[in-house]
Amino acid sequence: MKYIGIDLGGTSIKAGLVNEVGEILKRCSEPTPVKEGYRAVVQVMVEMIDQLIKQEGISKEEINCIGVGIPGVCNKEGFVYYATNLFWENIPLAEALQEKTGLSVYVENDATVAAMGESVKGALTGVKNAIFLTLGTGVGGGLVINNQVYSGNHGIGSELGHMVIGENFYDCNCGNNGCLETFASATALTKYTQKLIKEGKESMLIEKTQGEIEAITAKLIFECAYHGDAVSIQAIERLVKYLSIGIANLINILAPEVIAIGGGVSQAGDYLLDKLNKTIPQYVWCNHVPHAKIVLAELKNDAGIIGSAMFARARD
Ligand SMILES: [Zn+2]
Repeated sequence: MKYIGIDLGGTSIKAGLVNEVGEILKRCSEPTPVKEGYRAVVQVMVEMIDQLIKQEGISKEEINCIGVGIPGVCNKEGFVYYATNLFWENIPLAEALQEKTGLSVYVENDATVAAMGESVKGALTGVKNAIFLTLGTGVGGGLVINNQVYSGNHGIGSELGHMVIGENFYDCNCGNNGCLETFASATALTKYTQKLIKEGKESMLIEKTQGEIEAITAKLIFECAYHGDAVSIQAIERLVKYLSIGIANLINILAPEVIAIGGGVSQAGDYLLDKLNKTIPQYVWCNHVPHAKIVLAELKNDAGIIGSAMFARARD
């Protein structure tokens, strides 16, 4: 049996035909017609699914079900409460896609399905209790408990990025102040760096961006930190501190075996891991027993396709 995994993003829709063990057999990608509304998005998905089936030369009957990872919050019936980047509110996504394809459709938050992907075929393979954190524009997360993704009573849990861990100088998109996302995302890192520069601190970043500090990216900050830039180092140290607090909270509550970190910020690789491994133990309550191993996620851009397909497989 085969599965369709769809990674629905604000700029593109990536879809793949995935086998039982999480291997992508065929894939395609299309821009997301955000402005045309959800029916147009569903129509693009339907066409992509047909294309995948045709490319593989199989019949629709060989497809077991469809999984969709969304940049938002939905319930277990695949009803999307909201997806900010898509300007969606109260969209019956699973129902609409099911109606058009005749196949069962399972919808989940993108970070949660990515956790599933890492669990089936990535950094969390074979790990019974694990956490996946993605540090990108925002911070997303997924919990794997007893080999299953956990999303709480209504299916809207595991919003790890909105764990409140301190007071911050700007509010989170969710309306709260102090969310992990505002300390540990790529956005948070650039915002804090820009703040330091606006306060008059000298930095290599000013020259690198020819004074256009709005052009500073997380990647550039890591590069400059590597070359000894004090502002970049200070901003990264702050990210590491709060991310470590967030991770230690997760360890203290759930005691997972492994925590995998993905997303753009994780491209800093061992530089980031080394700092986290030094800082996290300061905040873990019980250091007498070994706590979670921190690793880099492995599936990168494929996490959404593989994860949503494997999520659907698990739910079907
Ligand atoms: Zn928040």
